[in-house]
Amino acid sequence: MNFDLEQIIRKNIKGLQPYSSARDEFVSDRSGMIFLDANENPFENGVNRYPDPQQRSLKAVLANLRGVNAQHILLGNGSDEVLDLLFRAFCEPKIDHVITLPPTYGMYKVLASINDVENREEVLTNDFQPNIDGILKGINSHSKMLFICSPNNPTGNSISEEKILKLLQNFNGLVVVDEAYIDFSPKQSWATRVTEFPNLVVTQTLSKAFGMAGIRLGICIASKEIISVLNKIKPPYNINSLTQLKALERISTLNDIEKEIANIQIEKSTLIRALKRVLFVKNVYDSDANFILIKVDNAAKRYAQLLAKGIVVRNRSTQALCENTLRISIGTSEENKKLIAILKDMCNE
Ligand SMILES: *Cc1c(COP(=O)(O)O)cnc(C)c1O
Repeated sequence: MNFDLEQIIRKNIKGLQPYSSARDEFVSDRSGMIFLDANENPFENGVNRYPDPQQRSLKAVLANLRGVNAQHILLGNGSDEVLDLLFRAFCEPKIDHVITLPPTYGMYKVLASINDVENREEVLTNDFQPNIDGILKGINSHSKMLFICSPNNPTGNSISEEKILKLLQNFNGLVVVDEAYIDFSPKQSWATRVTEFPNLVVTQTLSKAFGMAGIRLGICIASKEIISVLNKIKPPYNINSLTQLKALERISTLNDIEKEIANIQIEKSTLIRALKRVLFVKNVYDSDANFILIKVDNAAKRYAQLLAKGIVVRNRSTQALCENTLRISIGTSEENKKLIAILKDMCNE
């Protein structure tokens, strides 16, 4: 393993003198100070002041929750911003490339395009695991990032620990493990292992299990060195005050979140049992996430039938290995009952 962070940072980022905001230059815990440094409106309304650019209170809580040091965390406006920052820090447009493993989350490819970085695709094997030999055969010094989504969207399975380990040990770029669905999974998070692997980047989000897709909060966990590169290029106030406040409030009610997750797990089992009894459902794939991928006789037809009855699912048929598949998120008990009743009706139509 010859991973060297200095080798993979873009030159312009290495030499960058970051913007220094008013709140970066002077930080005080002392109340009673008069702040005349940021051209804010001085009349209090709850949001008249700029937010903490380093989100210290929120990071402290998240660090404790995830069992890592706060210096290993960077927060983004959704994971999408975190992923975009990674491209901008490490991938030279038109020269470097990234590797993605379809069928997987569509944003990696879109972000590669936006950043004018080539996306090399290495399709998963039939059991939705990485083709290690295929991946390792194609890499060179311009292979900057490898995206592994685990549990994977849209297939729902987790990527084997042994395979991720092998990639971490043999890939000299960043191995980005996207754990958007980790809180639904019985598998261990990779987050605490960033001290062990200098090329490991773990991304998480409050959008799924935490029920906060609307506030846009993405989490990046990596070595202190990687985090400080990303800190240099992030917009100074990328996490707004309302998001920081709402996230802190929600995390303080962890019991409620755990109850919701447990409820979603029960609903998932019920839905899986029902789906297996539907005649036009040919396969129900194992899932460690809060959605289920199913193979049906004719995805376009079944999608349209569900839509006509007021149920929106995702047709994933254009993705590699996903012909005639639909992805269904787990809803409330009531929503799932309706879905199951409609699926039964569809069999009799
Ligand atoms: C939903 C999802 C995300 C979440 O993105 P946010 O920008 O944080 O809402 C990230 N990765 C995957 C694979 C997802 O499915």
